[in-house]
Amino acid sequence: MAKQKTGSSRRDFIKTVSAAGAASLLVGAGAGPARAAEEIKVPRRPFGKTGVQVATLSLGGIFDIVSNQMVLHQALKLGVDYWDTAYSYTGGRSETGIGNFLARYPQERGRIFLVTKAHKRKVEDLESELNQSLKRLNTSYVDLFFVHAISDISEVDRPEIKAWAAKMKQAGKVKLFGFSTHRNMEHCLAEAPRLDFIDGIMMTYNYRIMHSQGMNAAVQACYDAGIGLTAMKTQGGGPVADDSEGEVRLAGRFLKKGFTPFQAKMLVVWEDKRIAAICSQMPNITILRANAAASLDRTALSAADRRALRAHAASTAGCYCAGCASLCEDALSGAAPVADIMRGLMYARCHGDRNLARQTLAQALPQGPESLLAMDFAPAQAACPQGLPIARLMREAAEELA
Ligand code: SF4
Repeated sequence: MAKQKTGSSRRDFIKTVSAAGAASLLVGAGAGPARAAEEIKVPRRPFGKTGVQVATLSLGGIFDIVSNQMVLHQALKLGVDYWDTAYSYTGGRSETGIGNFLARYPQERGRIFLVTKAHKRKVEDLESELNQSLKRLNTSYVDLFFVHAISDISEVDRPEIKAWAAKMKQAGKVKLFGFSTHRNMEHCLAEAPRLDFIDGIMMTYNYRIMHSQGMNAAVQACYDAGIGLTAMKTQGGGPVADDSEGEVRLAGRFLKKGFTPFQAKMLVVWEDKRIAAICSQMPNITILRANAAASLDRTALSAADRRALRAHAASTAGCYCAGCASLCEDALSGAAPVADIMRGLMYARCHGDRNLARQTLAQALPQGPESLLAMDFAPAQAACPQGLPIARLMREAAEELA
C-alpha cells in the first residue's frame, strides 16, 4: 500500500508541474514575466521543400472540438495555425468542431494549414472519407491529406494511390499528400523518399527514439528528399506509466531552469531542425499556452540537460513501446496487434484518456480482447528490444480496457 501511495504522489507532483503555471515558465524565461501570453507567436519553419511555412506547433485534434471552440480562437492568437484532425477522431466531433469554426469565420480558412487523414486503403474508400471530411470541415480543400497510420510503405506504394493523390490535387481537394505512422516508423520513413509523391509525413518521434541510428538516417533521408516532417508523441509515454524517481528528478532539474519536463521533451525535438513541427494534443488553453511558450526558442537545453533526458530514456526503456511492431508481431505470426494494444495502454496510463484507450483496443481487436488471455506471448517478449513484459501487459489490457 505504501508503495502505491508513493507512486500516486509522484504522479500527482508531475501532473501539478504540468498544470501549475506551465505556460508562464518559458514565457518568463528570458523575456520578462510581464510579457503577455497573447504576444506569443510560435515560430515557423519550412515544411520540407513544399514551399509552405508552417507553425512549429500543430494543434492535435483528438478532442471534442465542437465543445471547445475557444481553443481554436486562442490557437490562432498564438500563431498555432497548423491544425491536425482525422476522419476517425472523437467520432467526427474533431472535424465537425473545426467545420463549425470555419462556418462562422470563413475568412480564417486561408491562414490555417489544415490536415486530415483517412484510415482506409482502397482509393474509393479514401475518396469517400475525404469527401465526408471536407463536408464536416466546411471547406473545399485540405492543405495536407494523410493516409492514416501505415505500418508498411506498401500500404501507400501503389500506383493507384499515387494516381489518386494526383487526381485529388488536380481537383483542388488536396494540396499536399503523405502518410502518418506510429508503427515501424523507421522502415516507413526510410522507404518514403523512393516514392515521388510523398510531400509530408507525421511520425512518432521523441527523446527516446531520436538517437537510434536507423531512425536518424530515415529522418535524414526524408529531410534530404524535401519531405515535410511532423513529430508526434513527443512526450515518449508508454504502456507502463513512468512515475519513477528519475522522472521526478527530471522535473526538479527542469523546473529550476524555468521549464517543465513536458516542455523540455518538446524542446529537444524542436532542436532537430529537420523536424518542421510538433503535433501535440492540446484540448485546453493551459496546455496550448504552455506548448506555445515552449516553442519560442528563448531558452536552450544545455548539453547536460540533453544527457539527462537521454539517461532517463535509457533507464526507463522498459516503460516505452518503440512501435517496432514487425519484431513482436512477426514473432506471433501476426496473431495479435501488440503495438496497437501498447498504444491503447499508453492512452490510458500516460494520457489518462480511457475512452481513447478503449477505442484503440476495439479498433485493434474487433473480435474482442478475450483472445489475448489465451495466447502465448513468450516469442514476442523474446523479440522485444525494449524488454517489455508483453504477456503481462496484454493481460492487463484485456482486463482493464475491455
Ligand atoms: S517489439 Fe516491443 S517495443 Fe517493439 S512494438 Fe513490440 S512491444 Fe513495442
